[in-house]
Amino acid sequence: MEELLKEYEKVWAIGYSLALMGWDSETYMPEGSARERGEASAALVALKQSILTSEKFLDFVERANEEASNDVERGIVRVLRRALKYYTRVPVELLREEERVTNEAKIAWRKAKKRADFNAFRPYLERIVEIKREEAEHLGYENHPYDALLDLYEEGFTVKDADQLFSGLKPLTKELERILSSGWPQEHPLEEAPYDAVRMRELNERVLGILGFEREYQRLDASAHPFTEGIGLYDVRITTWYHGKDFRRSLLATVHEFGHSLYERGCDPSLWKTPVCGGVSLGVHESQSRFWENYIARSRAFSSLITPLVKEYLGLDVSPDDVFTYFNLVRPSTIRVEADEVTYNFHIMLRYELEKGLIEGSLEVKELPQAWNEKMEEYLGITPPNDAEGVLQDIHWSLGAMGYFPTYSIGTVLAVQIGRKMEEDLDLPSLVSEGNFSPIREWLREKIHRWGSVYPPKELVRRALGEDLDPKAFVDYVKVKYR
Ligand code: MG
Repeated sequence: MEELLKEYEKVWAIGYSLALMGWDSETYMPEGSARERGEASAALVALKQSILTSEKFLDFVERANEEASNDVERGIVRVLRRALKYYTRVPVELLREEERVTNEAKIAWRKAKKRADFNAFRPYLERIVEIKREEAEHLGYENHPYDALLDLYEEGFTVKDADQLFSGLKPLTKELERILSSGWPQEHPLEEAPYDAVRMRELNERVLGILGFEREYQRLDASAHPFTEGIGLYDVRITTWYHGKDFRRSLLATVHEFGHSLYERGCDPSLWKTPVCGGVSLGVHESQSRFWENYIARSRAFSSLITPLVKEYLGLDVSPDDVFTYFNLVRPSTIRVEADEVTYNFHIMLRYELEKGLIEGSLEVKELPQAWNEKMEEYLGITPPNDAEGVLQDIHWSLGAMGYFPTYSIGTVLAVQIGRKMEEDLDLPSLVSEGNFSPIREWLREKIHRWGSVYPPKELVRRALGEDLDPKAFVDYVKVKYR
């Protein structure tokens, strides 16, 4: 184990460098450096792979497996074996082909989206689906080829789990109808209220300070799409965006990314530089961001906390009620990233069903736009005006990321379960309205963050909450909150 971890330090250092380069390329890198950066990154990725798949390293992993005598050591072996499974089972020619196709597909997708022309993207997507199906065969699965792809993003999560999750969320259809016919607000004048970007940035910083953002180890910047980059345990960076109006978008994105960054920062320092330091899966990661964004920032208590700050920084004359309403509008929209809490999961359900169809072969790429629009009509009662606002809206497929979307719903549901569990121990409304977030951060650190990836996601959730992923908890939460 000792030798293994010593050798792994090289991989860790490469990962550290790649993360910093990735963050930089989305924030401050001069545009003209993109190609050079791409080549440098590709070389580092190849170097990392060659260390991980070397005879020496494979041997270390097998010997460590025999020696592993506690949860951390077993976790280290588990995480490494998962990484190795991908590199050793999928032929290198297929990986290279995917790299080549997705590099072209990214550009084709951007152009196709701009012109709302699905047919321009279609041949690329057809090839990507073929590659993904081949990849699933190489990776192996028990019941469904899509299981192999889901597992890449959410360890141990299968079609059976996903079917259970989404069928458990179907009662939201009724709730949505009820909410819309009850006169719950769908629009708010604050959506159009302009703000000064410098002041908005200051407000974001102020709110982050209250939440417990550690400027010694974390920083906030701006990018085209908000993201979090855990460069190391002691360097976690987040970004947000500024549109000049509709301050909710900037603030909630900032709070969302804060949740991701807190998870990365909360790993126990004894796990530093090991393969188990850092979030265990995309679903669990998203539960952390969604907890802060939805359960905390969309609460009444948080509205009262920030109302004076909104007045002070943005000069808007608002009441806590205004802020709460504005943060919790429910309005079916064609765009996933603009969706509210109630409609969000339908966007994911739709993508899940289509992806599953593509991978199992029951749906062809050419049928996608129509299938997309039909489901949109079925779930949300709206039809996208064109494919740019429909089937072409997300970047994921062009990157070859299939099996990724369900993790958004896992996180959204899990966030509510975490909040409910936490309320058994803490008086959240009081803590939040006082701006006293340290008991909340501590609870999360103790139950979830400190474990890094020591336990697989399902086991971590069971240990932390004493229950499994439960869509009913989310439906109940919506029923109560939006009454
Ligand atoms: Mg996120």
